[in-house]
Amino acid sequence: MSAPLIQGLHHVTAVCGAPQRNFDFYSGLLGLRLVKKTVNFDDPGTYHLYYADGAGTPGSVLTFFPWVEAPAGRVGTGQVSAIAYAVSEPGFAYWQGRLAANKVEFHGPKARFDETYIEFADPDGLKLELVVADQSAAFTAWANSPVPAAMQFRGFHSVTLAESGVGPTQALLTTQMGWTLVKEQDGRFRHRAPTIGPASLVDVLPTPGAPGGLPGTGTVHHVAFRVDSDATQQAWRNQLREMGYHVSPVMDRTYFHSIYYREPGGVLFEIATNPPGFTVDEPAGTMGTSLKLPEQYEPLRTQIEKALPSLKSTAA
Ligand code: ZN
Repeated sequence: MSAPLIQGLHHVTAVCGAPQRNFDFYSGLLGLRLVKKTVNFDDPGTYHLYYADGAGTPGSVLTFFPWVEAPAGRVGTGQVSAIAYAVSEPGFAYWQGRLAANKVEFHGPKARFDETYIEFADPDGLKLELVVADQSAAFTAWANSPVPAAMQFRGFHSVTLAESGVGPTQALLTTQMGWTLVKEQDGRFRHRAPTIGPASLVDVLPTPGAPGGLPGTGTVHHVAFRVDSDATQQAWRNQLREMGYHVSPVMDRTYFHSIYYREPGGVLFEIATNPPGFTVDEPAGTMGTSLKLPEQYEPLRTQIEKALPSLKSTAA
């Protein structure tokens, strides 16, 4: 491989329904920081909400397109079927109590590979997991979270890709993207990014015969991997194109630059740059508190603000 390394996960983007319900769940209950409140750059009549750790660290960023009118999706093959966050050992116990107290049904604790985890769903049915894993050094606590710092999520642990078969997806990850197959158990294949940093695991779970996924609320739209620079991204773009992938042009997403391509099993992959990050258009201390618009939509701010539903913080 000539291109420099893909470091792990950058963000995951999913579709939800009502934005207030989504905000109450991720900010109020799960205690994540809303690090950016903006609009869908391709559809400025709808929000794009970014939840992350206190600093908006790549590898902790879960974003949502609230599509209030969209039908519920169906989780199936060719999709990210679960998003796992890392929590500490005390955090694991804390979360079981907090979820139960808030009447969020969870399953587990269960064991997978050498780890313990629970699984639950958000109000739109998006499947989440909490895995005991030490990633505390890589992520920044959010001081204004309703969740104590020691108990907060420590970024992503992994994502699971549901696939009709493992071969072609695994070949892309290992032969072409430089990841390593590190474990296999009960038909689940775990791959690790070459940098062995946090948020660097992708599980491929073959579910042959299962129905294909359908887009809509409660499903993942795409998963993004992180690279350190535009030059690295360009190298990957060239390399993937040489390998026959249809790769999008570089898109300016304000907070990162993106290229998109579809892996052989159907999941939309993105490679996003770590820079410039979420402080590019507002200070770190006030990230997420006001609506940020890309330059092309600033002239339409009044109309856009009027059309968007209000989003109120109800967190303690
Ligand atoms: Zn993205």
